[in-house]
Amino acid sequence: MKYIFDFDDVLFQTGRRRYEHMYPRLKKAGISTHDIDEYYQKVRGELFSMKKLLAHFSLKEDYYEEMMREIETFNNEELLKEIKKLGKSNCYIISYGDTEFQLDKIKRTGVASLFSEIIVVQESKKKMVEKICTKHKDEKVFFIDDKAENFKDLDFKKYPNLKTILYTGQNLESYLQ
Ligand SMILES: [Mg+2]
Repeated sequence: MKYIFDFDDVLFQTGRRRYEHMYPRLKKAGISTHDIDEYYQKVRGELFSMKKLLAHFSLKEDYYEEMMREIETFNNEELLKEIKKLGKSNCYIISYGDTEFQLDKIKRTGVASLFSEIIVVQESKKKMVEKICTKHKDEKVFFIDDKAENFKDLDFKKYPNLKTILYTGQNLESYLQ
């Protein structure tokens, strides 16, 4: 069996990190929660990156390190513990977003070594998911993501080995073995 994991809000507690790590640090730099929320509204639908955010608020690049430090605290350790048992060759990450930012985030969390391939896309995940299904057509391929919209355009008829799991923080132990 093969496993494709989403990164944000699956392997990594992205939402929690935003409020417990990012917002307090930006506040210290003089940016109010209101202004950050306003920025998020403005760039909605665009590819988020920390460097773009810092530039928007005219914060020096030095802040980047400060903003990215200790983010591994927000790893989804419970899930990663299960993934460690699966073996690197069976596990993939397909993440949506700004390539440089996503790859740096993934690198800093220290989870990269658990995955045989890390793919960042700026469009639908469909093409990459189906490519993995073709490559492993005699095996079941699980695609685990917290957004149901990422499942909508998948071709389950053409790829009968594909199974999706909508991740809401539930225990996946029974699937991951
Ligand atoms: Mg996600």
